[in-house]
Amino acid sequence: MQNLAPLEITVHKNSRIMTIKWADGHQSEYPFGLLRAGCPCADCRGGHENMRPEPDPAVYDVHLPDSPATRLDQVKAIGSYAIGLEWADGHREGIFSWDYLRALCPCDECRGKI
Ligand SMILES: [Zn+2]
Ligand SMILES: [Zn+2]
Repeated sequence: MQNLAPLEITVHKNSRIMTIKWADGHQSEYPFGLLRAGCPCADCRGGHENMRPEPDPAVYDVHLPDSPATRLDQVKAIGSYAIGLEWADGHREGIFSWDYLRALCPCDECRGKI
């Protein structure tokens, strides 16, 4: 899906937010804590049987404090379909596909759709 590709990904370490500008004009702002709470890796989701293509709705109620676990260190491109987020506590298993990131967008418009 062409409109699901990000045009631009910016990490704001001071305000602890990652922003994505999407090809369809939408803009998403993800607090680091939400990205960590929504980490889609098997470990964070409690095993492969719990892996789903969409975020767990509970991640929006999790408010993780500032700690190495919620300090985003690096964003790495994974092919042309995803990014890998590397956290200051060494966790780097999370692979965030464009579909998943778009579904995770916390804005009112996107939350209202789910
Ligand atoms: Zn994880
Ligand atoms: Zn949105």
